[in-house]
Amino acid sequence: MNESEIMRIEDSFLAQVYQKFAVCVTSGRGAVLYDVNGREYIDCMGGYGVSIVGHCHPKVVKAINEQSERLLSCHGSFYNDKRAELLEKLVKIVPEGLNSVFLSNSGAESVECALKIAAKYTGRKEVVSMVRGYHGKTLGALSATWNPKYRESFKGFVCSNFKFVPFGKTDKIEEAISDETAAVIVEPIQGESGVYVAPDGFLKDLREICDKKGVVLIFDEVQTGFGRTGKMWACQHWDVTPDVMCVAKAMAAGIPIGATIAKEDIMKSLGVGEHSSTFGGNPVACAAASAVIDVILGESLVERARQLGGFFRKALLEIQDRHKIVREVRGLGLMIGLQSRFDVYNILMKGLGRGLILLYSGRNIIRFLPPLVISKAQLSKVADTLEDILTEEEEKI
Ligand code: PMP
Repeated sequence: MNESEIMRIEDSFLAQVYQKFAVCVTSGRGAVLYDVNGREYIDCMGGYGVSIVGHCHPKVVKAINEQSERLLSCHGSFYNDKRAELLEKLVKIVPEGLNSVFLSNSGAESVECALKIAAKYTGRKEVVSMVRGYHGKTLGALSATWNPKYRESFKGFVCSNFKFVPFGKTDKIEEAISDETAAVIVEPIQGESGVYVAPDGFLKDLREICDKKGVVLIFDEVQTGFGRTGKMWACQHWDVTPDVMCVAKAMAAGIPIGATIAKEDIMKSLGVGEHSSTFGGNPVACAAASAVIDVILGESLVERARQLGGFFRKALLEIQDRHKIVREVRGLGLMIGLQSRFDVYNILMKGLGRGLILLYSGRNIIRFLPPLVISKAQLSKVADTLEDILTEEEEKI
């Protein structure tokens, strides 16, 4: 199929819910994607943070191939070797005390489970979520997602017992918590809304408040997890452990998987049949996730994210010094946001034209979520290309 055929078919038959870029991506390796015409792009989007170990990492591909020869499906009502292998590895790398896992297929599903656990464990009905928070678009997760753009059309469907409080404002959160609050849900670094890092002390305050009031503290690490921010989990920057952690995205390098990881006594509140997923704990996904953990540890990708993140952030800060169009650069590790004073759409389009895939957050923020295997040379090229584009954009003002 050629480019125009692919685009015509997708435009005709696929639900029109994604803002499309006119590139047909057909293969990838490391931090590079190739389109159907063989054009090369440095991938700073990483599938919204999925491709932590890079595209088609050979060890992950091998694990998927081997497992797909043996068994493609195994329902959770049976035991499976690859699932057990993954669980053992996962529980070893998550913050201590989180040792009970529900396996699902996406970030939103990992949040759905977290909300249900909190409701069941506490017997309460309300949830406190953050202004600018993003937790997915299924109805439970959407109820915890702040952006009115995503919620407005579903007013009657999203739960009304979710309160939104300003991210980082401890006193407001304390005020919002009532005797009916089951959970507080928060991203340690808000990703979708534009890379806003939790202010120092905030997560610790939340931990204390939740402990005092018997509220379940949920950290949504769907975007920040698996080394992205220069620690295995973003909450480790502040040494705070939640009661429940949601993960997905990078977990199996692109094979759908999500996990809700809780303290055992909290997870235990869910009885048999109260939550399940046909595909949850799928052996191919588990084999891929198991290989991803091996690669992250074996290639020291967490440390690499920290080092390369420092390098790239410095380059962006220098660009900020030279270009008034840049308002702020923020983030941790290789999760970085560059806030412009203007709409970034043209910058994204020009990036594509020059072999650079960037990601937006809202209208004026460029978000960088590249694979952690990206090289310094590639990051320098990204910074140089971006600076060229910013120079051109500034000349137009
Ligand atoms: N939580 C966070 C923090 C996310 O960033 C996302 C996805 N951007 C989700 C949940 C939802 O994940 P998914 O799209 O896999 O349902």
